[in-house]
Amino acid sequence: MLRPLSPPFPSFFSFLSWVVLVEGSERLGGWIRSVRGPDGAVFELGPRGIRPAGVLGARTLLMVSELGLDSEVLPVRGDHAAAQNRFLYVGGALHALPSGIRGLLRPSPPFSKPLFWAGLKELTTPRGKDPDETVHSFAQRRLGPEVASLAMDSLCRGVFAGNSRELSIRSCFPSLFQAEQTHRSILLGLLLGAGRVPQPDSALIRQARAERWSQWSLRGGLETLPQALNTHLTSRGVSVLRGQPVCGLSLQAEGCWKVSLGDSNLEADHIISAIPASVLSKLLPAEAAPLAHALSTITAVSVAVVNLQYRGARLPVQGFGHLVPSSEDPGILGIVYDSVAFPEQDGSPPGLRLTVMLGGSWLRTLEARGSVLSQELFQKEAEKAAATQLGLKEPPSHCLVHLHKNCIPQYTLGHWQKLESATQFLAAQKLPLTLAGASYEGVAVNDCIESGRQAAARVLGTEPKS
Ligand SMILES: Cc1cc2nc3c(=O)[nH]c(=O)nc-3n(C[C@H](O)[C@H](O)[C@H](O)COP(=O)(O)OP(=O)(O)OC[C@H]3O[C@@H](n4cnc5c(N)ncnc54)[C@H](O)[C@@H]3O)c2cc1C
Repeated sequence: MLRPLSPPFPSFFSFLSWVVLVEGSERLGGWIRSVRGPDGAVFELGPRGIRPAGVLGARTLLMVSELGLDSEVLPVRGDHAAAQNRFLYVGGALHALPSGIRGLLRPSPPFSKPLFWAGLKELTTPRGKDPDETVHSFAQRRLGPEVASLAMDSLCRGVFAGNSRELSIRSCFPSLFQAEQTHRSILLGLLLGAGRVPQPDSALIRQARAERWSQWSLRGGLETLPQALNTHLTSRGVSVLRGQPVCGLSLQAEGCWKVSLGDSNLEADHIISAIPASVLSKLLPAEAAPLAHALSTITAVSVAVVNLQYRGARLPVQGFGHLVPSSEDPGILGIVYDSVAFPEQDGSPPGLRLTVMLGGSWLRTLEARGSVLSQELFQKEAEKAAATQLGLKEPPSHCLVHLHKNCIPQYTLGHWQKLESATQFLAAQKLPLTLAGASYEGVAVNDCIESGRQAAARVLGTEPKS
């Protein structure tokens, strides 16, 4: 939340002294959370890698440099196994996803034909006419049923822990949707690109491009990023309140907000809300009922994250990890081979670190039934998956289990209309409220940072550079 009072702002830094950041929990970072094991190994309970690609990836790297974290960055370079190899677990076996032109021409199980044929279908399929479509329907229409039910199903599980038959192509994968709209074909769109967008520049960004990084982390874990941001902002006058959940918002006669924090209140000329849409919907006053309704329909799913560490064990393959389509297992979304991408975080003596993600229809059914969701249940399922899918039959030496409730927003079919109605309401009512965070236009860390940057630029009246 942001509380700029009494503009004008002579400089950005003096503006910052009028900003209050209100965090409900005692810790900053939200889902970004890194914990150390007894041997110093780093376990990520949320995100574990940030992509450097594109303008948003570059802007995050710029921020990393501004925070003085360059020397902490752990890159995954383009020639590394974790950058080159990704797998699908189908039919009880791991299958490497093909890469490069030659890979597309070869037979590549679990797909029955070389993916070249899916590409040919894609190039000859006409443009879709609907304003939105499910990811599954879009992929089936353009790339065929196998790519839809194996590759795109798994991708939706890997990124959104969601169901490709419910998620929106327009909102979840806007670049694919736009490529079809603009160039009639995803492949043509990817080849021709979206035109030249001005790119930020820094030594770190140039290094990431030269070494073709696929992703990066930070030596002490990704939580170092919000911690550094906190130090940076507080040193410049931002007040950070922790452990103070906002429990209500009301509009004052003068047009500013009263922010209820339980025992105390704040006044704010403008609020940037970066909390989940459905949480905000419950805090809004009656005057904002139509907005609250639109936000309440942006739901989220839960994910159980199980970090496992094994002593003296070896993986059967080297890569970033593998995804599991829903047809293979309704509960295991995939396994990330953390030690392959970031061996520097393995601790001493080094142990093999993996993360098993559980969710999907399996978890949704358990939640709907009100079943007991014990740590033992998730640990047992995760160890079983590591044993059957990766051959790791010995018990792990260390295990962390966390159930993240409602952690990934679901951009279901028609999500764009919810955003449009929220935007229209805010503009028509001139409400001093700006929306940011994972609920709206992208769940990746880069997307969330960008949404915060754009929100701040809007409040300050400085147009975001695109
Ligand atoms: C398991 C998992 C793995 C992921 N992996 C990756 C990855 O590898 N790479 C990637 O790019 N992205 C990944 N993501 C996605 C990404 O981490 C999240 O989408 C992103 O961190 C969300 O950030 P946010 O600030 O929008 O929301 P949140 O992290 O949810 O932060 C919201 C904050 O608001 C606070 N809050 C809530 N209610 C109130 C209230 N009433 N008053 C005050 N404060 C309140 C919360 O305490 C929290 O700190 C992953 C997500 C998960 C869950």
